[in-house]
Amino acid sequence: MDNCDKAAANKGLVAVEDAIEQLLKMARPVCETQENELAQARGRILAKDITSPLLVPPHDNSAMDGYAIRVADLDDKQEKGLPVSQRINAGAAGQTPLAAASAARIFTGAPVPPGADAVIMQEQARRDGNTVFLRGPVQAGQNIRRAGEDIKPGDVVVAAGERLTPQMLGIAASVGTAALQVFRRPRVAVLSTGDELVNPGTDLAPGQIYNSNRFTLGALLETLGCQVFDLGIVRDSHDATKDALVEAARQADLVMTSGGVSVGEEDHVRNVLEEIGHLDLWRLNMKPGKPLAFGHYHQTPFIGLPGNPVSVLVTFIVIARPFVLKMMGASNHRTTSFRVAAGFDWPRPQSRREYLRVRLDEHGRPVCYPHQGSGVLSSLAWADGLAIAPENTTFAKGDSIEYLPFCNMIG
Ligand code: AMP
Ligand code: MG
Repeated sequence: MDNCDKAAANKGLVAVEDAIEQLLKMARPVCETQENELAQARGRILAKDITSPLLVPPHDNSAMDGYAIRVADLDDKQEKGLPVSQRINAGAAGQTPLAAASAARIFTGAPVPPGADAVIMQEQARRDGNTVFLRGPVQAGQNIRRAGEDIKPGDVVVAAGERLTPQMLGIAASVGTAALQVFRRPRVAVLSTGDELVNPGTDLAPGQIYNSNRFTLGALLETLGCQVFDLGIVRDSHDATKDALVEAARQADLVMTSGGVSVGEEDHVRNVLEEIGHLDLWRLNMKPGKPLAFGHYHQTPFIGLPGNPVSVLVTFIVIARPFVLKMMGASNHRTTSFRVAAGFDWPRPQSRREYLRVRLDEHGRPVCYPHQGSGVLSSLAWADGLAIAPENTTFAKGDSIEYLPFCNMIG
């Protein structure tokens, strides 16, 4: 294509930010919630704030194995022997106050006895029979974890819309949560379009290729927390496409397809969507991923991803993922990205924004996979993320560019 043809082909493309914003505006979160036990809630989106009914920690306790003392009993010039007046294990209750001019043997997590105002770690103590030798200076409050210093009654420890990560489960448990309300997983129907496709497990006939998108897309959606229905391979015909879309929309909260959204005569998906439903958006200013289509069939949203396997992953991460997260009830739909120094030159400006398959080198600079074709799955298998070459821009090695890590987004 010469530059004129290119300009014509790229006319009217929707900017990536506009597409994301439009989709987010149209995303309707699933409303239904369900109660899950804490151990079964990992990865789900919380539907109702978890508010602490208690103080964490519930009592002043020792941060060390050592001796609880009164600071005033110690001298900073000379070591002083104090009798050990009591022993307090973690889990002990009903503390006796610390006897005057004595030390209490204490263990990490054990309640600090009334009257003690510091704990000296055992590595700084010398024990001889029932006497412990200690020396100042000691700060008041040293090695004591105060009641409520982490969480107070009424604090929201996990807000509705948060994903229940391991650390969120931990904090929920720390305030006594045994079960919680999560959003129902959205049901997403996945269709793979193309006469050339067969699923792995069958020998390939001439002209056929294996259906890889089904597995990439299904796994992307499941990792995000969706319930995926694979509705198989759809042949490249108007009627087969129509039947498949109608059936998918009947079963699902969201229909996602791959292939058939470009401008060829055998690309039926977009045409059928326009005929039976509504096409809200088509053709984005991105590479790969230009032909992405978004629309509705009755109330059911529809995302038609391009067929090329690299385009599927790139458009999923950049365009579909924020939409799906909003549908799931998540409050954060941002795509994680970092500014990093480029590990390669980008000398020729391109009219479309390019998402390059890259890997961070030993200096943390992204370098490109040598073959960036949108059908080259090896580039994805090799890459640890995408680097963005903005539209109509050049940059050189060392310039700051945007990098989207896969690790935060797809697993
Ligand atoms: P299309 O958008 O349908 O024209 O497809 C673009 C390219 O992606 C073609 O080379 C297709 O063979 C390929 N393709 C489409 N769907 C799949 C799939 N499910 N798995 C692997 N390759 C596919
Ligand atoms: Mg096709």
